[in-house]
Amino acid sequence: MADVFTIGLGHDHPEIRKNANSDFISFWNEQAKNLSWFSSWTKTLEWTPPFAKWFVGGTINASYNALDVHQATKSEKTAIFWEGEDGTSRKITYGHLFSEVQKFSNVLKSLDVKKGDRVTIYLPMVPELIIAMLSCARIGAIHTVVFSGFSATSIRDRINDSKSKVVITADGGYRRGKIIELKQTIDEAINELDFVEHVIVLERTKTPICLTSKDKLWNDVMKNIPNICTAEPLPSDHPLFILYTSGTTGKPKGVLHGTGGYLTHLFSTFKWAFDIKNSDVFFCTADIGWVTGHSYVVYAPLLHGATQIMYEGAPDFPDASRMWNILQKYGTTIFYTTPTALRMFMKFGDDIPNSFDLSSLRLLGTVGEPINPEVWKWYFKIIGKEQCPIIDTWWQTETGGMLISPLPGLETIPLKPGSGTLPIPGVTISVVDEFGKNVPVNTKGYLIIKNPWPGMLLTLWGDDEKYKTVYWSKYENSYYSGDYALKDDDGYLWLLGRADDVLKIAGHRIGTAELESCIVSHNDVAESAVCGIPDDVKGEAIIAFVVLKHDVATTTIDLEKQLITKIRSDVGAIASPKQIYFVSKLPKTRSGKIMRRLLKSIANGEKIGDVSTLEDGTAVTEVQSVFDDLKKTLDKKS
Ligand code: ATP
Ligand code: MG
Repeated sequence: MADVFTIGLGHDHPEIRKNANSDFISFWNEQAKNLSWFSSWTKTLEWTPPFAKWFVGGTINASYNALDVHQATKSEKTAIFWEGEDGTSRKITYGHLFSEVQKFSNVLKSLDVKKGDRVTIYLPMVPELIIAMLSCARIGAIHTVVFSGFSATSIRDRINDSKSKVVITADGGYRRGKIIELKQTIDEAINELDFVEHVIVLERTKTPICLTSKDKLWNDVMKNIPNICTAEPLPSDHPLFILYTSGTTGKPKGVLHGTGGYLTHLFSTFKWAFDIKNSDVFFCTADIGWVTGHSYVVYAPLLHGATQIMYEGAPDFPDASRMWNILQKYGTTIFYTTPTALRMFMKFGDDIPNSFDLSSLRLLGTVGEPINPEVWKWYFKIIGKEQCPIIDTWWQTETGGMLISPLPGLETIPLKPGSGTLPIPGVTISVVDEFGKNVPVNTKGYLIIKNPWPGMLLTLWGDDEKYKTVYWSKYENSYYSGDYALKDDDGYLWLLGRADDVLKIAGHRIGTAELESCIVSHNDVAESAVCGIPDDVKGEAIIAFVVLKHDVATTTIDLEKQLITKIRSDVGAIASPKQIYFVSKLPKTRSGKIMRRLLKSIANGEKIGDVSTLEDGTAVTEVQSVFDDLKKTLDKKS
């Protein structure tokens, strides 16, 4: 029996689920009315599988819904408490944001940026990033934000794919106290990309830069520019942005999102999942370079006129207390982060968070990877002091917003650590076998989505065929998520990792998440990743990579034995790893996800594929060398 925790926030609206279940189209039709439309739609959903158009005939603008609608009542309200990595801070009101966005929209217009044109944004986590995005949205240009840690080659590929005519960047950005020279990277990236007409450069670090004929400084273009720019009424399915996926499983895909459906999805999920109130101080730690940042840093909080914290730097800089310091400083009420970050905080020990006043918190959230039950319980107890519900939100770049999550703003349901609980209202999720048949309860299968939802991607940029093949060809009229899950007796969904990562041992299918959670629940372990290598007898044998907690000095034979015993008793003898490797870090994508496909390539002696989205190359080198050493030892023995 899994542990169960019930923490309610006083909401109970069963009619919402009931309505949604009986007719999801009318349900979303009602939800869309929470937004401001220039003209109403004539058809709620036009579904020509696999292409969905929501709120057909309606006209809307994302920037208008994020800014204009709040001016009468909230122009003095703080939209963003910005915290720089270097300790500087800025406070930006809704009124100020409104004026800056209108000015920058006029700048884009003066550079001849038109409706449908693409603009690449390569900025650190500074308010100007949000200003640039909302300005694109205001005039109907499509923004494509690229994480500011990417190399010249990665950014060139993305600019080239989207054919952006304007690029917005900064002289540099701070990361762990060092300056990353962004402008220099852009110079290298756009060399030979003649279609790029202008580069706007924000001075953040005051690093010396060379200006070319294409370059303009942010401060210069913002001088003497009118601060009135009316938001353009755009068709509901007008593309709002292109965003490339994290690339955990392969080459990143250019996901294209629309406007009216996407905003409807965000407005509703932000209210249900986070129970957002006017007095809240919301803090999502995601970088805007990822979908979580687009949806739950930029659009959803602004649609609700919420106050939020935006942090520029690394979560453990200058030291391991930085996050808790920020939480305390601003009286944060809602905190949304990733399992990877939580495992890191856990690794540093309880004393650090315990020395801060975190009593303002009322709700905690997580996203990005399956959360190990052990980590969930730590988050609940040490950060939330057993007072805050935890929402484990499952979704993807492609889904636009959350699809599975507890919704304390809507209802009180028992929480089970490690389960995302139920799909959001209006969304039907099934767990099926290879042939599309529902698997029995408590059985692993593929997670698929049965009906279109408003935040659904429009297509992959410039590649409808790939869109069809990747998501819609495996099962008829259902969206294939690529994730592995099970439904328990209560209908709760448990995410068990990527379908590609599944281990097939002697005819059994074992989810990576399940096994890794077991290893992480050992007191000395901070993180773990498992993968398979071919095995003559079992088909596949498991190897495990383990990172220990900071205060655990050395690895011992004993520890290895303890882990094996634990796996045998918690998961089963079948899941016993052939080998456990102790390493100091795991290869992760820039968005913090463990890159199991890389471990698998190393373990199988294969060529390592595209690693452009990798966070830290030394992690791969380390895993490779630990692996090589052990392999040599094993070879000698046999
Ligand atoms: P690519 O598609 O290029 O391989 P990616 O899938 O890592 O990249 P994202 O869209 O950022 O790119 O990540 C979505 C994936 O993250 C989901 O498919 C799932 O595997 C994982 N994920 C997100 N949230 C959760 C969660 N709460 N529980 C379990 N897994 C999650
Ligand atoms: Mg994906």
